[in-house]
Amino acid sequence: MPNPQSEIQHFTKNWQQQLADAFDNIEDLCRYLDLSPDDLPISVAATENFPLRVPLSFAACIEKGNPRDPLLRQVLPVNEELAVYPGFNTDPVGDLAAATQTGVLHKYQGRVLFINTGSCAINCRYCFRRNFPYSELQLSKQKEQAAILSIQEDASITEVILSGGDPLLLSDARLTRLMGQLAEIKHLKRIRIHTRLPIVLPARITDEFIDTLKLSPKQIILILHCNHANELNERVIVACNTLKNSGITLFNQSVLLKGVNDDADILCDLSEQLFSHGVIPYYLHLLDKATGTGHFEVSKERALELIQQVQATLPGYLVPKLVTEQTGAASKQYIF
Ligand SMILES: *Cc1c(COP(=O)(O)O)cnc(C)c1O
Ligand code: SF4
Repeated sequence: MPNPQSEIQHFTKNWQQQLADAFDNIEDLCRYLDLSPDDLPISVAATENFPLRVPLSFAACIEKGNPRDPLLRQVLPVNEELAVYPGFNTDPVGDLAAATQTGVLHKYQGRVLFINTGSCAINCRYCFRRNFPYSELQLSKQKEQAAILSIQEDASITEVILSGGDPLLLSDARLTRLMGQLAEIKHLKRIRIHTRLPIVLPARITDEFIDTLKLSPKQIILILHCNHANELNERVIVACNTLKNSGITLFNQSVLLKGVNDDADILCDLSEQLFSHGVIPYYLHLLDKATGTGHFEVSKERALELIQQVQATLPGYLVPKLVTEQTGAASKQYIF
């Protein structure tokens, strides 16, 4: 358990070491947060398939002694995860499980999702991938090469989206090699990276990673995943500034989550804070209906109400698009 001294020391370590130090045990996390496990609706059973995983950088943003903290709610395994909700199933997105076999998911015109790794630095309890055994998936070199070849052979593809899991869990060496190979594909205009790591493990934004991005002849877009302004600590802000100053376009996507950000003031504050650090709000997703996540659901009606309140408060460019994923559709479905 980190004391203030070891906490300072922790943040001088490299990102791999910080990741290895992440909380993986409920008691340790509760002790760090001055909470008693007995006062919380904790479920150890809920961790069997989907363990607790919280980097210290994220845990440090949780208010000590507050059992209702909106960041704690995103990571604490609770009894409600075992409840059965109608309409929730183990594969709400349908095809992602299959895509992890080949590494590519080509659903939308011109864009392919490239899935090299299924693991994440944090385990968000609302995640759709919580029910898949691929959490530790790493695409083999052969499969990765086959995936790159398939992108090379399809001139209709103009954008590759590195996704996961979290693609920034790949080493700098591997990412550099991958970006180099993508750089050689003439018909690609953009490389997009979907990642939560700058938010939950900002030490991942290494000089080597920045150099790799800067050297790419393609336009680079990073889409972050931040759900609440409290996630933006000083280390995260430095990481955003570094990316921004390297010419990277930064967007953010959030998931609308009950008890976390289902409040117009919280959503407005999130947009304002993100933009003040150079990040443009992009999507606000309705929850994917994965088994174990029903207690996070916000109804479509309530979601519409909230986003209209946000629109009535903020300039248009700070209002994220409210969207949902619909199997078989040609794009995300815009709700607002
Ligand atoms: C979300 C998603 C994309 C990206 O969609 P945009 O609307 O361009 O952000 C691409 N492919 C798949 C499979 C997706 O789920
Ligand atoms: S970072 Fe994204 S993919 Fe990973 S657990 Fe959280 S929501 Fe799921």
